[in-house]
Amino acid sequence: MHRYSPADERTIRAIADYCLDRLAMEAPLDRPLTPAELDAQVGQTVVAAGMGPDEALRLWADVLGPACLSVDHRRYLSFIPNAPTKAAAAFDMLVGASNVYGGSWLEGAGAVYAENQALRWLADLAGLPAEAGGVFVQGGTIGNLSALVAARESALHKRGGRPRRWAVCVTGETHSSVKHALHVVMDVDVVEVPGDARGRLLGSALLATVAGLPDEVRDGIFAVVATAGSTNLGVVDDIAGVAAVADQHGWWLHVDGAYGGAGLAAPSARHLFAGVERADSFIVDPHKWLFAPFDSCALIYRDPVQARAAHTQHAGYLDPVTVEGEWNPSDFAIQLTRRARGLPFWFSLAVHGTDAYRDAVEQTLAVARTGADLIRDADHVRLLVEPDLTVLLFERIGWDVEEYARWGSRLLAEQVAFVTPTRHGGRVCTRFAIVNPLTTADDLALIIDSMH
Ligand SMILES: *Cc1c(COP(=O)(O)O)cnc(C)c1O
Repeated sequence: MHRYSPADERTIRAIADYCLDRLAMEAPLDRPLTPAELDAQVGQTVVAAGMGPDEALRLWADVLGPACLSVDHRRYLSFIPNAPTKAAAAFDMLVGASNVYGGSWLEGAGAVYAENQALRWLADLAGLPAEAGGVFVQGGTIGNLSALVAARESALHKRGGRPRRWAVCVTGETHSSVKHALHVVMDVDVVEVPGDARGRLLGSALLATVAGLPDEVRDGIFAVVATAGSTNLGVVDDIAGVAAVADQHGWWLHVDGAYGGAGLAAPSARHLFAGVERADSFIVDPHKWLFAPFDSCALIYRDPVQARAAHTQHAGYLDPVTVEGEWNPSDFAIQLTRRARGLPFWFSLAVHGTDAYRDAVEQTLAVARTGADLIRDADHVRLLVEPDLTVLLFERIGWDVEEYARWGSRLLAEQVAFVTPTRHGGRVCTRFAIVNPLTTADDLALIIDSMH
């Protein structure tokens, strides 16, 4: 018994074939087109009569798809790339085709059960207690915001009132999403603590900065954000030192491991994260260094009861899903309806096993360490920050911003690599962010050589 027509079946098969091809090949980097180029090659697709599946899919395959960069290319090293396993990417198709509702236990019990096992693996890596738990949200931005909102709500209840202004301690290297959440979304003040020479937040600096604040500012602090793998530098804060200061003041400790949290899986890097077991909330993006497709951020709370108090929505029509003892993902973040976006990550973990994840993260760390040596050994480039994880920040000696831009454009035009400039300490430089186990030291050498 087919529930679809022959025409539907042709469309489904054509899309599945496209996906199979995309997963089977080493896709080219591709390149963005200008709006004018897209107008010329695509034009108006949304029309009253519809263009039919063949033409719409042809436009995707021939023009629109290749006008999107392959973020999973092994020499895509800008921003934070991603590198989904085939299992994870394939399961993402299934999630779409099954149309699972992931917001409540009532509607998505099987999905939530599986997602929670994936969250548990992450909580165990971090050393969080048995009652810890949370939800997969869209990305680190929503993860950080949701955690900080829960932190403020918890502080409000503990104090029984508001200070003149709320405040949160961060550093210059704290991700832009945290500062955006605090400033724009939450209207909370930011106390910026100076980082050490590598931009790390240390407990001692936090203590000294806070001691120098006027009483009324200090009184408004309710949380501190430690970064476990800063985006620009790949460096891990002194989480244990920060946790001690947070404890002493009764602040919430949020650990942002959106990129670097994956390093918890690697025995060779685990020591860098000491203290993460004391976090009140923790995030890591499987869509960054844990081999899942976009979009997926694991948000985990030490005490989910406090998170639920902040995030559960109440309404008569929601009463049926509010059942004691059932885990409703919508209770833990700023969202209600939700795609079961942790499932591709769960499936791949279940298929490959956690040892394979450990090995894949170790592989990227090993390539990054070799890449750092290549940069140290070359005369024309200079490593700017000693790396902790898999981000390498370096400069081409003597280059200005235009030379970086020309070089980057040439590498993309020749489909060799995607590497963009960045800034550090007021100077222009560049960086490699390596999250793909297929990236080799030879790939890095090729790009470093291209800067002669
Ligand atoms: C990428 C990143 C974020 C933001 O995560 P999105 O998934 O892009 O929303 C937050 N913090 C850090 C440290 C990051 O690297």
